[in-house]
Amino acid sequence: MIKEQIQQLSKGIFNDVVANRRHLHSHPELSFQEYETSAFIGRKLDELGLTYQKMADNGLVALIKGEKPSDKVIALRADMDALPITEVNEVAYKSQNIGVMHACGHDAHTSSLLGTAKILTALKSQFGGTVKLIFQPAEEKLPGGASLMIKEGVLENPKPQAVIGQHVMPLIDAGKVGFRAGKYMASTDEIYVTVYGKGGHGAQPQQNIDPVIITAHILTALQTIISRSADPKSPSVLSFGKVIANGATNVIPNEVYLEGTFRTMDEKWRSEAHVKMKKMAEGIAESMGGSCDFNIVRGYPFLINEEKLTASVRGFAEDYLGKENVLDLDIWMAAEDFAYYSQVADSCFYRLGTRNESRRITSSVHTPTFDIDEDAFKISTGLMAYMAIKQLGN
Ligand SMILES: [Zn+2]
Ligand SMILES: [Zn+2]
Repeated sequence: MIKEQIQQLSKGIFNDVVANRRHLHSHPELSFQEYETSAFIGRKLDELGLTYQKMADNGLVALIKGEKPSDKVIALRADMDALPITEVNEVAYKSQNIGVMHACGHDAHTSSLLGTAKILTALKSQFGGTVKLIFQPAEEKLPGGASLMIKEGVLENPKPQAVIGQHVMPLIDAGKVGFRAGKYMASTDEIYVTVYGKGGHGAQPQQNIDPVIITAHILTALQTIISRSADPKSPSVLSFGKVIANGATNVIPNEVYLEGTFRTMDEKWRSEAHVKMKKMAEGIAESMGGSCDFNIVRGYPFLINEEKLTASVRGFAEDYLGKENVLDLDIWMAAEDFAYYSQVADSCFYRLGTRNESRRITSSVHTPTFDIDEDAFKISTGLMAYMAIKQLGN
C-alpha cells in the first residue's frame, strides 16, 4: 500500500522538513542571488545520493528513477527566492538578512520538495517512471527563473509529460489544498508612461500645456479598454498605482509620470490591448497639445492548469487527504512564473493551505508579517510524492 508507506515516511521526515524550512527562512536571498540557497539544496541532494545539474545559475535539476520499467516522466517544481521586505515576526527563525524575507513561502516550497525527494528515493524500488525535480531560482523577478530554465532545456532530456508545482496559500487552512482546472492566474505587464506638456504658472493655463489634465483624460479613457474592448467573459485588469505630477498649487509641471499594471488571461487579447492602450494614450496627449511616451514591459504569461492532468492529480489528492480537504480555487489575478511551464507543457499549479487562525497565522504573502503554519508540512511532502507516483501510472 503505497499511500500508507508514503504517509509513514512523511511523518518520519517532518522535523527535518521544518528544520530545512527554518534554515532557509533565516537565510533568505533575493531573486538571481540565491547562491547559498542553491548550495544548501545541492548538499541536501548529495545526502540523498542524487546527482544534479545546475541551470539558470542557481537552479538545480535532479532525476529520481523508479526501478520498475516505465518511460514516463513527471516534473515537480519548487522556487527558492525571497523578497525585498524586512521581516517583523519575532520568531526563532526570523530572517537574518535584514531587508530580505521569505514572504512568499518559497522556503516552504523548497523544503517540501526536498522532503518529497527523500520519500521518493526511499520508495524507488516500488514505482516505475522518472521524477524530475526542478529547484528554480528567481520567481519574483522578470524575466523569471522558469523562462530561463526552459530556455536552458529543463523540459528536455528527459521530457516530462506533466509539470506540477505547489504554492502556499494563507487563505486556506493548513491541512487542506486547493485546485483549479483551466485558466488560474493572470499574465502581467508593467506600464511606464511619461506625459509631456509645457509647465508654467497655474494662473495662466492659456500659456501652458497642462500634462496633469492630459493625464486625467488618459487614465479615465484607458479604463474604457477594459470596459468596452475586453471580452467580458475573460478577465482583464488595468491599475495605475503611481501618478507623479510634481508641480504645486500654483505651478503646472512640465510632465507627469505614471506606472501601472495590466493583467489578463488571453495572449492574443493581451497583445491587442497593448497596441490599443498605447494608441489611445498617445492620441489623447497629442490632441491636447502634449505628447506621451507609453512603454509596456511584458511580464509572465497567464497560468493555465491543464484540465485532464488537474482532474487526475486532484483525484489523487482526494485519495491522499480525503475529499473534505481538497478545495476549489477561484481565479487569482496575480502572476506567477510557473505560467511559463504551463504555456509549453501540461501543468498543474495547486495551493497548499498554510493558515492557522488560532495561531494568528493569517497574513497575506508579500507582507512583513507573513508566516506559515508548519503543520502544512504534514501533507506537503507526501502529497506531492503520492501524486507523482500515481500520475506516473503506478
Ligand atoms: Zn511572490
Ligand atoms: Zn511565490
